Amino acid sequence: MDITDLHQLILKELECPVCLEYMKPPITLCQNGHNICFSCKPNLYRCPTCRQQFLQVRSISLECLARNITYPCTNRKAGCPENLPMHLISEHQVMCYFGDYECPFSKISNVYCAWSCPLVDLKRHVLRDHRGSSLDIYGGGSFYSHLSPLTQTAKMHKALVVFGELFYAVWKVLEGDFCFTVIYVGPESNSSKFSFKFTITAMNKIETISTCLITRGYNENVDEVLKPGNCIAIHYDTIEKFFAGENKLPFQLEISRLGTSDNDSCHINQNDYNVDNATHY
Ligand SMILES: [Zn+2]
Ligand SMILES: [Zn+2]
Ligand SMILES: [Zn+2]
Ligand SMILES: [Zn+2]
Repeated sequence: MDITDLHQLILKELECPVCLEYMKPPITLCQNGHNICFSCKPNLYRCPTCRQQFLQVRSISLECLARNITYPCTNRKAGCPENLPMHLISEHQVMCYFGDYECPFSKISNVYCAWSCPLVDLKRHVLRDHRGSSLDIYGGGSFYSHLSPLTQTAKMHKALVVFGELFYAVWKVLEGDFCFTVIYVGPESNSSKFSFKFTITAMNKIETISTCLITRGYNENVDEVLKPGNCIAIHYDTIEKFFAGENKLPFQLEISRLGTSDNDSCHINQNDYNVDNATHY
C-alpha cells in the first residue's frame, strides 16, 4: 500500500456517517466503538450506525491521526485542489475560491437575489442577471462619475466592471466622516493586486484631494472596511466644498493592477502597504 492509499484509508475512517464530512477532534464513540463528529452528535440520541448509546469518551487514536494528516477542502467536488493540515483547512475554506458566495447585489446592495455560486462564477452571474442602471462597465481603469445624493445619512454602493473584473465602490457618512472604498469581488488572493485612486477637485479647480488604497476583499465585512482608518475618510464639512450642485460629489476613480508600472498610478508597494496608509483628511 502506498502513502496515497494510506491517506485515503485514514480519510475514509474520518468520514462522519451522518454529514459525510471529515471529522476533526473532538471525536466521540458509541458503545460499539463507532465514531461521530462533534457537529452531528448534539442532534443525535443514538448512534446512527448501530442504534446504541454514545459514550462520554473520545476516540484518542483517531483524533491523533486527524491531527497529523492533511484534509482536502470541503469544496473539492467543485474543483478545489487544496489539501492542508487540520488547523489550516478551516481558514482556507472561509475564503475558498470554490465555495458558495452570496450575490453582491443581495450582500451589498440589499437587492433581493437568491443566487449563490463559487466566487469564480459571480462575475458572470452579475453581468448576465444584473445589467442595468446599478452596474457601470468601463473599458479602462480611469473614469469620472459622481456620488449623489451624498447626505449625512447616505449609504451607497455602485457595482463597477473594470478590465472585465467586478468591483464595488461603497461609501457612507459615518459620524461626520465621508468614508469610501472599493471592494474587489473575486478571489481573496487577488484583492491585494488592485489599487484605486480616488480624486475629488473643487469647483475652483485649485483644491484637490487624491488618495490611493488597495482594494478590499469580498469576504470582509462591509461595515468594518468602511470605518475611518480602514478606508478613505474625509470630514463631511470638507467634502461639502467639493460639491457640484446639491449633495452631488463629482469624483475621478482610477483602478489599477499593482506591480504593472505602466498602469499602476498609485505606485503602492504591496509589501509596504498596511492599513495605517488609510487616509483621514
Ligand atoms: Zn457529522
Ligand atoms: Zn454505533
Ligand atoms: Zn478550497
Ligand atoms: Zn444576483
